[in-house]
Amino acid sequence: MIRVGVNGYGTIGKRVADAVAAQADMELVGVTKTTPNYGAEAAIRRGYDLYVAIDDRADQFEAAGLKVTGTLSDLLDAVDVVVDCCPSGIGERNRSIYEAHGVPAIYQGGEDAGIADASFNARGSYEVARGADSLRVVSCNTTGLSRLLAPLDEAYGIEKARVTLVRRGGDPSETDRGPINDVVPDPRTVPSHHGPDVNTVLSDVDVDTAALRAPVTAMHTHSVNVTLDGDPSAAAVGALLADESRLFLIPEGAGIDGAGALKDYAADVGRPRGDLWENCVWEESISVEGRDLYLFQNVHQEADVVPENVDAIRALMTDTPREESVARTDESLGVGL
Ligand code: NAD
Repeated sequence: MIRVGVNGYGTIGKRVADAVAAQADMELVGVTKTTPNYGAEAAIRRGYDLYVAIDDRADQFEAAGLKVTGTLSDLLDAVDVVVDCCPSGIGERNRSIYEAHGVPAIYQGGEDAGIADASFNARGSYEVARGADSLRVVSCNTTGLSRLLAPLDEAYGIEKARVTLVRRGGDPSETDRGPINDVVPDPRTVPSHHGPDVNTVLSDVDVDTAALRAPVTAMHTHSVNVTLDGDPSAAAVGALLADESRLFLIPEGAGIDGAGALKDYAADVGRPRGDLWENCVWEESISVEGRDLYLFQNVHQEADVVPENVDAIRALMTDTPREESVARTDESLGVGL
């Protein structure tokens, strides 16, 4: 049993906690909160032990009627590995605390690549975990791109990938994010940082990215153009992608025309929180002109990194092969639409 702690119980942390709790080979020891808000109350309702992230705030939790099991330090003493799901930049501040406790750590994509021994995506770089003491699970967009580009590169070779990312302005619970009435280049410089981030996982793939931010909360949308070394048919590319468990090809006849319908579908089929752990590729969009492949895919930013965190724990803490870990994670969560 791998004993796991989750430090930072927000959008990603609460999903990672649920996913860890669903693994037969892992035990969720507890989660941390900084404030006794609705997230803390929900964690207790789910049966998770709550630890205070900031030592002198235990009184606030008690005043709010929320039982606290200990401090972050107590949690670190009780786990084999910690998954840091704190806001960007806080992971870097936490690093010395984890190191002082001798606890291996998994960080998220909002941190710089240098925070960990290696950047992780189960499809693109599972083996980097061998001998590592820490990993960074790459961001939602980088995860989505790595899952798509890895099989294309293996099957046909990639001469050059060019991707325009239309990013969600904020997550549904983030009332202070935007824009609310515009589509803005973000960053205004091209290429964006996403391409270099893909190269922390797939070092040999030539990829340029440009990014915009849009007034939506549900998902990111990627417009993808890949110049391949080979010239497969669109049907062959579709079959290749359909074979990947973490890529969902949205069938032409399904009537799914956007992120709203996708999320509606996820909720209808009983996905927790309406989560889509898979990249969602519009099957009709897969087109090949000579050696140029075009397609659209959507990425559910709150969810796609969740199975990757589970695999990162197994890769860091055991010698489980990639295929076995991915299969176990997928089966326990129900990944694969
Ligand atoms: P979030 O703000 O939703 O959650 C972070 C949680 O950490 C909050 O509950 C916050 O109160 C808590 N926190 C703050 N300081 C803390 C501390 N010192 N100790 C413990 N907890 C603390 O953020 P998020 O969206 O879950 O992002 C977490 C990480 O995951 C970031 O690196 C982010 O870039 C990355 N990520 C986010 C998304 C996304 O779309 N939300 C997708 C992929 C990766």
